Amino acid sequence: MISGLEPASVWKYFSEISAIPRMSGHEEKIIDYLESFANERGLKFKKDAAGNVVISKPARPGKESSPCAVLQSHVDMVCEKNEGTDHDFLNDPLDLFEENGFVRASGTSLGADDGMGVGAALALLDSDDVGHGPLECLFTVDEETGLTGANALEEGFVSGRILLNMDSEEEGAVYIGCAGGKTTSIFKSVPERLKSEKQLSYTVKIDGLRGGHSGLAINSGLGNAIILLARFLWVLDDKINFDLAEIRGGEKHNAIPREAMAEICINEEDLPILETKISKYTEIYKNELRKTDEGVKLSLKKNNECMPVLPEKEKSRLLNLLYSFPHGVFAMSPDIKGLVQTSTNMASVSVQKDGIQILTSQRSSVESSIHDVSSKVISHALLADYEYISKDPYPAWTPDPDSPLLKKAVAAHEELFGEKPEIKAVHAGLECGIIGRKYRGMDMISFGPDVYGAHSPDEKVRIVSVGNFWNFLISIVQKI
Ligand SMILES: [Zn+2]
Repeated sequence: MISGLEPASVWKYFSEISAIPRMSGHEEKIIDYLESFANERGLKFKKDAAGNVVISKPARPGKESSPCAVLQSHVDMVCEKNEGTDHDFLNDPLDLFEENGFVRASGTSLGADDGMGVGAALALLDSDDVGHGPLECLFTVDEETGLTGANALEEGFVSGRILLNMDSEEEGAVYIGCAGGKTTSIFKSVPERLKSEKQLSYTVKIDGLRGGHSGLAINSGLGNAIILLARFLWVLDDKINFDLAEIRGGEKHNAIPREAMAEICINEEDLPILETKISKYTEIYKNELRKTDEGVKLSLKKNNECMPVLPEKEKSRLLNLLYSFPHGVFAMSPDIKGLVQTSTNMASVSVQKDGIQILTSQRSSVESSIHDVSSKVISHALLADYEYISKDPYPAWTPDPDSPLLKKAVAAHEELFGEKPEIKAVHAGLECGIIGRKYRGMDMISFGPDVYGAHSPDEKVRIVSVGNFWNFLISIVQKI
């Protein structure tokens, strides 16, 4: 239980929705709640086939000629609990409590991402003392598992062309852009397998790397397990003659691979060279990555027998391809300091029965650059005579430092807090990217209170920042 927190209305609605299960993909109960909320207050309620909701509220007296503002939040939450916590996310209310200036939930994620946005929207819909123009509060579903609610939005579902997204997690920052992206798969059919003439089989493994989000962490200097393993094998290939039966690493397109392994067959007399190289390259990698990925480790494990191997030509083609594969930052933003504008991630590789598969993903906050970097990956693959499949991209939200809405937000922030907010963008996908594509000409910003540990049972929201977030929101709304 929490009580006595300010602003009372935001906390009231946040507490109410925290009692309603709202796991991504299971938003029926919160949608019903929104419908009763609107009906009880005589507000217009609309729902689409995906479950997205708009509640509209007319302008306050004197603000009838103001443009309509869309206040957007997502109703679903990531459901994570500590081991041993007995909580049923489909039925049980969250158990909120206050601790050292924060609100948390016992043993579970809090859903301040994005319950704080939802709570603020409801507080504004319920208010009679904020001088706002016409409002459309847009509540999307299923943001957390792939932005599917936003993706399903239909033309005309909202009419406003000013959008306040309340899904950021950093007080004092205003977000004005995000990356779009796509995945590009590279493959080659290699049905032929040979029996190795070598006597010994070993698995070479690289692990101990941190891994990380392929967008947010792409400029963190993390090691890419696949490329580091390919480099090791490429160097080894120069020293001894070995056969390659298998190479595998990485899982998801949106993660920098943490582990990779290769199964190789060698001649008995080459074992000492292999062992020496393993310890030498462990040292080299530890030194190169000492600030970012010092846990990196190469290891060897003996296998009972040699599995069928790739033809020599395919082996060497694959090692050259992987070692030289584009990975990492391509360009930094000229508009926002420190923002990665364009990047690509070499995400996974596997040798399968009939061929070799490589998965990569590209991101950029500039639409044309998504295609550019994906085409570079393809042209790289074509050099090695590989084929490709390139998916349709999801849209970017390109930063517009001259946005009229941003100017209002900056002015509001200066009046309230005596300083400009930090203007930021994120090298990952947000709902704003999709919404901006669906509703052309939408002027958008994103902001929110301080939320730490989102998507984990450690999630917490800083109480003081909720008041500042609320004051910032109503001040912007009044200026529109
Ligand atoms: Zn969120």
